[in-house]
Amino acid sequence: SFRKSQLIAFDNVAAGHDGVLSDRSGVMIIKPCKQSEIDFYESTAAHPDILPFIPTYMGRLSLGADSAQAAGALILPGAGATEPDGQSRPGTATLPFVDHAWAPSNGGKIQTDLAVVLENVAAGYKRPNILDVKLGARLWADDAPKEKKARLQRAAEETTSKSLGFRIDGMKTYQGSGAAKRMDVNSDGYRVFDKNYGRSFNAETVQQGFRDFFQLEKGVASKDKKDPIRKTIRRFLGSLEEMVQVLEKEESRMYSASLLFVYEGNVEARGAAFPEERRILDEIQSARDRQSTFGNDAQVDHGPASDEDDGAEYDSEGEIARLPCIQSVKLIDFAHAQWVPGSGPDENILHGIRNVIQLMRGLIG
Ligand code: ADP
Ligand code: MN
Repeated sequence: SFRKSQLIAFDNVAAGHDGVLSDRSGVMIIKPCKQSEIDFYESTAAHPDILPFIPTYMGRLSLGADSAQAAGALILPGAGATEPDGQSRPGTATLPFVDHAWAPSNGGKIQTDLAVVLENVAAGYKRPNILDVKLGARLWADDAPKEKKARLQRAAEETTSKSLGFRIDGMKTYQGSGAAKRMDVNSDGYRVFDKNYGRSFNAETVQQGFRDFFQLEKGVASKDKKDPIRKTIRRFLGSLEEMVQVLEKEESRMYSASLLFVYEGNVEARGAAFPEERRILDEIQSARDRQSTFGNDAQVDHGPASDEDDGAEYDSEGEIARLPCIQSVKLIDFAHAQWVPGSGPDENILHGIRNVIQLMRGLIG
């Protein structure tokens, strides 16, 4: 079960509103949101191709009408009834909130008693480096009030949003435990780049932002094919290219959505992660090979599908082996996202993602 008192402030954010919470283990985040964002997450069940490119949707929370009683509901996908079409729909479980009323502490910017429960994309890393890239030259949805449109339009014109279809919204990078005494480093050893940092770039200078994210003092990654940063960038590029292919086939309109990049910021953990991953994958492969030599039947049951890159794999004993966390990029922030059949691909965000790909390619030469 799930109690509000067991939630803690989630400070591993790169940008956005305050008020994000997580459970104590940190596997999930609870983000105050509007109904539109819940609607979007629930609509993704009908767009399975996009699921690998967004955080896993674990449910929604809503504060009951009587906040003194403070009852909420965690809606878990799959926990509900099976519909006639065979698809399972989210189910509802009532959960007791025992603590303070559900009011996001963001100075009243979002008035909502709703929240989405999402996979924490930054979980499992020793020191996650985090980058939020806001996508789109147009940042406002059709229903935005006139003043908001004007404000967002101005923000786009003053930044790389207009020219490149993206801007760096926020970022934090781990500098090592010894760096905490540096002026620009917080007590956790992180350098935090606020939204003004990303707004200061133009199309010619914005590559510096990616250099800062990957901590590339020489400006580009080492030529060494085994360099963990080079390999990390290559993986990001692979994921982004797949994401583009999916979005080109979908008809979405996502305004002010972001790409959330995470990779291991602890140098030792990062170096160890690649050989560790290799070792686990080799072990899984040899377990499979052994299995297929034993079986007379051509159709050997290889156990749960393991070619899905979700981090869960099975070792020789059939136990789940956790692949080390290396890097991940997801689309997030769907307050103004919809599927619009007949409208064609979402060129507004595709343009931005393609430009991010081009700039990241430039870092590995
Ligand atoms: P906002 O509307 O406040 O901009 P976002 O969805 O962009 O909301 O979330 C704000 C910040 O929270 C992001 O910049 C990111 O750092 C963090 N965040 C959002 N979703 C996740 C997630 N699923 N896992 C980890 N961090 C997240
Ligand atoms: Mn955001």
